[in-house]
Amino acid sequence: MKRSQSPSLPSEIYHESLCRTHPQAGVTVVYTEPMPELPEVETIARGLDERLAGDRIDEVWIGDKANLLKSPAAEIARVLTGARIEGFRRVGKHLVGDLESKQGPAQWIIHLGMTGRCLVCEPGMEQAKHTHLIATLGSGRELRFVDPRRFGKLAVLVGRKFAAAGAEPMAAGREEFVELFKGRKTPIKSALLNQKLLSGIGNIYADESLFRAGVRPRRRVWRMTRTELMRLYDAIREVLAEAIAAGGSSVSDYVDSSGDSGFFQLQHRVYQRTGEACLVCGTSIRRVVVAGRSSHYCPRCQH
Ligand SMILES: [Zn+2]
Repeated sequence: MKRSQSPSLPSEIYHESLCRTHPQAGVTVVYTEPMPELPEVETIARGLDERLAGDRIDEVWIGDKANLLKSPAAEIARVLTGARIEGFRRVGKHLVGDLESKQGPAQWIIHLGMTGRCLVCEPGMEQAKHTHLIATLGSGRELRFVDPRRFGKLAVLVGRKFAAAGAEPMAAGREEFVELFKGRKTPIKSALLNQKLLSGIGNIYADESLFRAGVRPRRRVWRMTRTELMRLYDAIREVLAEAIAAGGSSVSDYVDSSGDSGFFQLQHRVYQRTGEACLVCGTSIRRVVVAGRSSHYCPRCQH
């Protein structure tokens, strides 16, 4: 399916919902928001790496929206200009470009926020609205950062390495996972969303992992057995690996200017399926709010 060229992400991935209940009226308002999670960021990092490793940044243009910049604009321009791109990778939910800059080894850190997008395109391509940075590359192409909502972040680091606050879900071992989580007083859903524990798990993959592990989102972590925590660990890895594998085939969505649609996400088993039949047992999927976030579960399959 072809879509018209648009600076925004394809609507299919706009799944993240933020729910707020009005205290008096008892009205729940659901805002549907996009938010790339770990598998999407991994897919984008691979796409950028494939396209940009070995290229050089000749020139940088930065717009005037300072709230996106976590390093001063002049510093970003100074580090990026003339730098060779060694490669791109994912750290937590951040994209990290490893650079050989004039100042020595450096890193370009990009967080996509809700609507951030990296485009690798020909210089003649019409500039999308909300383009905040354009890097002109030695190969003649451009890398553009577009972000309508401006929750994204851009920064550079020279001489030190960027590290995510929490453990990397795809690298942490089972024991490490159990040690990180066990005994916590919070609901398991809140713990999964806590980026200081694990980096990169958002609402979608938290709900899907809990479903596969058979654990309800509101269960207090301290009440979970070691076996349940291990089952959850396996479920998280399985869900993320499947989502990364699915995304890998349609990486062009995020990084090309082609405008092709079809960034594929796993079929959600519970996420945003409130009232629909559980794919395993047929029971209606329920929704509860945990830590201000919509959470979906099957009351029969999850305990
Ligand atoms: Zn079920």
